[in-house]
Amino acid sequence: MLLTFQQAKQQLLQSALTIKSLHSEKVTLFDALERITAEPVISPINVPSFDNSAMDGYAVRLADLKQSKLLPLAGAIFAGDDINNLHWPQGTCLRIMTGAPVPNDADAVVMQEQTEKSDLAITFLSNVKAGDNIRRIGEDVKKGAITVNKGTKLTIPTLSTLATLGISDLVVFKKLKVAILSTGDELTPIGQPLSGNGAIYDSNRFTLKLLLTKLNCEVIDLGIIADDLTEIKKALITASSQADLVITSGGVSVGDADYTKTALETLGQINFWKIAMKPGKPFAFGKIGNALFCGLPGNPVSTLVTFYQLVQPLILVLSGQQLTSIDLSFKVKIATSVKKRIGRLDFQRGILQINKQGELEVTTTGQQGSHITQSFNQANCFIVLEQDRGNVSEGEMVNVELFNTLLK
Ligand code: AMP
Ligand code: MG
Repeated sequence: MLLTFQQAKQQLLQSALTIKSLHSEKVTLFDALERITAEPVISPINVPSFDNSAMDGYAVRLADLKQSKLLPLAGAIFAGDDINNLHWPQGTCLRIMTGAPVPNDADAVVMQEQTEKSDLAITFLSNVKAGDNIRRIGEDVKKGAITVNKGTKLTIPTLSTLATLGISDLVVFKKLKVAILSTGDELTPIGQPLSGNGAIYDSNRFTLKLLLTKLNCEVIDLGIIADDLTEIKKALITASSQADLVITSGGVSVGDADYTKTALETLGQINFWKIAMKPGKPFAFGKIGNALFCGLPGNPVSTLVTFYQLVQPLILVLSGQQLTSIDLSFKVKIATSVKKRIGRLDFQRGILQINKQGELEVTTTGQQGSHITQSFNQANCFIVLEQDRGNVSEGEMVNVELFNTLLK
């Protein structure tokens, strides 16, 4: 029986929730980039922490302006000044700079462009309203407010806000430990001459290492394991004792030398799925000891698609991230016809672009075989074609899912 893609994804995410609670650690604000908050961040101060001027101009009382549009200048306030002992006579105005504290009894700041200066007095040319150009205390962040929720991936703008609060370190979840290994007698490590006629380079392990590093995981690279039951078992035991998640590629389909399957069956509780998705039908998922296990199909395109679509959300949940953001997906016209067999959800690689009429349209990258790695190279999105859909003609509407930063 084929599992639908949604069923497979649901089962992966469900089992992630049953995994032991994550450990946390304190890191500096600088090192917190792209890490996940392990607790809410509460603001220790108001930002701004005092009323201050948004402009270079003049601080005024509205009552004084009612009396006269010409007010003598009584002094100046600069950013960083302490105004506790400020003396400001009635019927005068104060020169004030951007970011300088605004006196309590000032009603507004008038920008200098709306005034005229003569000797030591200022003429106010515009209508002035209470509160003009005053940045109020706590207007950006209130003291005691939850500024960042638990489970948030920290971006540069968020960390920048935390810097305005004076926060210098944060509690984040520890990095997820992920062990990777490749299986297959045909595999040669990159950088070495191919080891025979039927040999190929072990590109998947390299790709997985990049993907996991980008997802901020700690990678335990166990290398290439030969198609040998004892060797595979040994490697899987080592992997599961060191990592939270073990990922292999190859050896989960129905080939004769696929000892991975036999090894997994004796070591853990693994389900061998046939998922109604293309590429990426064979997929193994379960547990070995305390570690979760994902066995990805060996063809490089299948490895990449199943990692992106299934393993990526699993890793986000396992890393403590709240899965709130939905992927950016929408419908758009396809500019070329596409062959599609009914029965599986297709993740074709597409190029979303603006045509000569200024409209968005999508084309496929050409050949879509699960061994055509170049099908990914020019792509910026998946064209997601429904399981029960057949061939697609030029001009039909199709679902497009823009690549997130993992593939950029
Ligand atoms: P398998 O599922 O082991 O039968 O592998 C399916 C296809 O993927 C075969 O053509 C393998 O040679 C290829 N393959 C398996 N592992 C890797 C790998 N680590 N890197 C690149 N190709 C691989
Ligand atoms: Mg194999």
